[in-house]
Amino acid sequence: MGFYLILMGPQGAGKGVQAGFIRQDHGNIPHISTGDLFRAMKTRTDAFAQEIQAILASGKLVSDEITCKMVEERLAQPDAHAGALFDGFPRTIPQAEWLEKYLSAKGEKIAAALLLELDLYDAFRRTFGRVTGADGSSYNIYSNSEGITWNWVDHESKAFPPRLEATVTATGEKLARRADDASADAIIKRLDAFQRDTAPLLPYYEQRNLLRRVDAAQSIEAVTAAIRKILG
Ligand code: AMP
Repeated sequence: MGFYLILMGPQGAGKGVQAGFIRQDHGNIPHISTGDLFRAMKTRTDAFAQEIQAILASGKLVSDEITCKMVEERLAQPDAHAGALFDGFPRTIPQAEWLEKYLSAKGEKIAAALLLELDLYDAFRRTFGRVTGADGSSYNIYSNSEGITWNWVDHESKAFPPRLEATVTATGEKLARRADDASADAIIKRLDAFQRDTAPLLPYYEQRNLLRRVDAAQSIEAVTAAIRKILG
């Protein structure tokens, strides 16, 4: 039996970090993020890939048919023979139904749909305030800002809100911010989309007794421990 897990939660809930631990615990199953798979098409110049990029830029969802086809191809790769960790998929009821059918035809099933729950205001602060150093160290203006100098830099013509810049006070190292974290507007749009897309899936997995909720406001270690307890 393979191990198939669905990971859900808003940005900032720690999905990326926890996915790393989950994979380690379960035979290094691949982390399949449909958003990453679509973004990876960016370098392709064919009409199909361009169409996908236009949909991504609009913030709309790619069709269920295309999305499921892509997941099917990904699951056929050898590294996915023992299971997979889904992130950003399923996003709609038809996708959830497709996955259930696809796995059951192979004699497999979903182990759980794990929801990393985080207040959306906290999700915003975790995302907007986070910066990382070249060595992977991470800081946040709202929760972990000691030793860091924070500067709000005005846009030249004030056409956009000020930018947040962070430097390590002792060394002067400039810390990096993920491009998709730097715009408050874009973060709010993604949080809205998460609410909109995930809401219908919760009763779907609840009815199947697969939904497991984890309080993602806890420390990374506490969240990992809670997940390990749930997944046994
Ligand atoms: P994400 O990185 O998960 O936020 O996904 C980025 C974008 O990829 C989304 O805004 C959608 O346009 C597309 N996308 C990702 N996953 C799906 C999915 N399961 N169904 C439809 N569209 C998706």
